[in-house]
Amino acid sequence: MLWRLNFVQKNTLKLFDAHCDTLSKDGKLQTARRGQFAAYTQVYAIWGDRHCGYKNRFIPQLEKYRNAGSPGLLAVEGAHLLDCSLANLELAAEEGVRLLNFTWNNANLLSGTCAEEPFRGLSELGRKFAAKCAELRVLVDVSHLSEAGFWDVAAVSRMLNVPFVASHSNSKALCDCPRNLTDSQYKAIAKSGGVTGVNLHSGFLAAGGTASVADVTTHICRFLELDENAVGLGTDFDGGITPPEGLETVESLVRLYEALEKTAGEKLADAVFYDNWARVLQ
Ligand SMILES: [Zn+2]
Repeated sequence: MLWRLNFVQKNTLKLFDAHCDTLSKDGKLQTARRGQFAAYTQVYAIWGDRHCGYKNRFIPQLEKYRNAGSPGLLAVEGAHLLDCSLANLELAAEEGVRLLNFTWNNANLLSGTCAEEPFRGLSELGRKFAAKCAELRVLVDVSHLSEAGFWDVAAVSRMLNVPFVASHSNSKALCDCPRNLTDSQYKAIAKSGGVTGVNLHSGFLAAGGTASVADVTTHICRFLELDENAVGLGTDFDGGITPPEGLETVESLVRLYEALEKTAGEKLADAVFYDNWARVLQ
């Protein structure tokens, strides 16, 4: 329990988590856990599979978020939740949506994904979405997107001079699965001024699917070596993940902080836990 005592004495830890699926679950929004951090910003994603759309999924989850008193930032995980409509994207931005995954795992009118039609990049509509996102200051989130779609987003982002992000993706060099990013992809996000949030799902951390706190720091440190200003956290809590033992809750992230501080030092640990995402999203 020493870590807890240390933390209470310090109580200066700031947390910025760029992805959780709490809105699509029955659980309470993580407002009760705020007091433990000097600052805590949570991005809440509106999520649903291919059968879900604007009326039956976006609106109910938006209501849940509103009723909780808007305790964080809002994201949409898949443009099918906006019925792939530019008009709905405008409405979503007005409601405070700050990040948009063009796709979840299901392919849609904008693009293929890492899991379905992986060789299909952005359609004409996908490019229109990218331009509209830039205009509305909504960040394009490439987690779940096909690699072809990724490079199309990177090209549009370069042309429009706006950052893009991956809210919850890990290093493919360390764990070769379709949801993870190559070193070049991570560097392209960094170059745009964007950030990649490291995901706590064991299957995206270690090849055997059993991961430890050390595996999380290894993914973070690989990204730090490529670019120190472009890695943060995107836990994916409530997204059906299997987190490493000891990192099951928001509170327990202090263990990760302490491990990271030992490996990378306080300044970089603070950047990963808060400052990098804060620079892009606040
Ligand atoms: Zn996801």
